[in-house]
Amino acid sequence: MKDRIHQLVSSDIVKDRKVVLYWLQSTQRTAFNYGLSHAIHVANRLGLPLRVLFVLNPAYPDANQRHYQFMLEGFEELREDILRLNAEFVVAFGDVLTCVKDYLMDAAYGVMDFGYLSHHKVWREALSGFAKEAGISLDAVESDVIVPLEKGDPKCTYSARTLRPKLLRVVEDYLGAPKLESVIEKPLNVSSSVRFDALMKRLNGDDSVTLVSQYFVGGRKEALRRLDTFIKHALKDYLKSQDPSTLLTSHLSPYLHFGMVAPHEIYLAVASYIDTYPEAVESYLEQLLVRRELAFNFVYYCKGYDQFETMTYDWAYDTMLNHRDDPREYIYSIEELSSFQTHDVYFNAAMKEMVKTGYMHNYMRMYWGKKIIEWSKDYKTAYETIIYLNNRYFLDGRDPNSYASVAWLFGRHDRAWQEREIFGKLRYMNENGLKRKFEIDKYVAYVNAI
Ligand SMILES: Cc1cc2nc3c(=O)[nH]c(=O)nc-3n(C[C@H](O)[C@H](O)[C@H](O)COP(=O)(O)OP(=O)(O)OC[C@H]3O[C@@H](n4cnc5c(N)ncnc54)[C@H](O)[C@@H]3O)c2cc1C
Repeated sequence: MKDRIHQLVSSDIVKDRKVVLYWLQSTQRTAFNYGLSHAIHVANRLGLPLRVLFVLNPAYPDANQRHYQFMLEGFEELREDILRLNAEFVVAFGDVLTCVKDYLMDAAYGVMDFGYLSHHKVWREALSGFAKEAGISLDAVESDVIVPLEKGDPKCTYSARTLRPKLLRVVEDYLGAPKLESVIEKPLNVSSSVRFDALMKRLNGDDSVTLVSQYFVGGRKEALRRLDTFIKHALKDYLKSQDPSTLLTSHLSPYLHFGMVAPHEIYLAVASYIDTYPEAVESYLEQLLVRRELAFNFVYYCKGYDQFETMTYDWAYDTMLNHRDDPREYIYSIEELSSFQTHDVYFNAAMKEMVKTGYMHNYMRMYWGKKIIEWSKDYKTAYETIIYLNNRYFLDGRDPNSYASVAWLFGRHDRAWQEREIFGKLRYMNENGLKRKFEIDKYVAYVNAI
């Protein structure tokens, strides 16, 4: 537990403040929520009630109605779980910093989820400055990764190869669930129920992206149901899941993104089958632990992770420079791409899956991104188009995985390949690979039936 707690401000406790505040942002659950457990512990030590705050910001970076809907579907359940611990749950509406500062003013002590992306860091720095001036202790707690970042590789690591041994050495130390006590002191206010429809209406965000509840329903119960179904029916065949037509992956990424399920509990549930399906379990845990936490390392430690000019390696920029004037046979606009109007039936199917369901199979994400590089007038335009579409349509978009995976398309965490047109030494993918390796027409048929 102590390795997860970052003490940002340490102050004497101000006597007239009547509550401990936990600002919950990314960890939308009570189980395996180290921040919440820590906040309850502090509240009980100080003999104060606990207020759990969530700020609903209608202008959240890159969020649209699709993301809000999925998130809010889990809120009533979240509220009930928090109330069961004898804490108050408040949903504030408005600008993140303004709201958290307002609520911090009443607090003797503040706890918040740790943040990894650049806007998360900016908010936390501002709140630290504010808490320091106001004399309020403030901690940020890491619940979104299994291994706290500093205990993996505490710098911009080169690739999965450099991070893997460091994570595997310590992972067992970080799988324990935190002790979840109840708050002893009565809550200051009775939390009103979350009026889902009313909140959705007030958000009034970009509704040009359709809702996807018929494919993914938000919330913890649904996350656990999917985990259970995956373990019972698909885990044993996970090695075949590379084939997009098999639908054998867990589809848990949207739930991980919103913190509705913890990577720790998925890890423990899957790892308990290590003797039964050793290869499948190892392969799954490689994705969940190494690949996913490589992405957190990337966004946290690699400066300029979200800018075309700084997100990949020198060899990749050199090769792109050498090939920037190669002729492009096709160039498509964002509108043509996102309405699946290209000449490539496999790209169109992948794009349709993304637009209609908010999800796309991992292998098709690679193919999809590589094609956008091939069909854009230059690499920077390709990068910006891919990030835009990724974060607009995927329920799991706007995530550390989004930035690391898109950078991977441009060589990050990858190696140089045989040189060819447009791609230079960046890895290339084509439809022959799809046809050779997979039952790809079955995938197209599946998407066409959506
Ligand atoms: C161009 C491109 C864009 C991507 N954008 C995103 C994104 O916005 N958000 C996102 O969460 N993932 C992204 N990924 C990574 C990966 O495709 C998804 O995490 C995965 O498809 C989610 O499906 P699943 O939960 O069924 O995966 P499973 O195979 O069941 O894997 C379990 C978990 O492991 C992690 N994982 C699996 N594959 C990867 C991977 N290649 N890299 C990192 N973590 C992985 C995810 O957290 C996933 O939920 C992207 C990949 C590419 C190539």
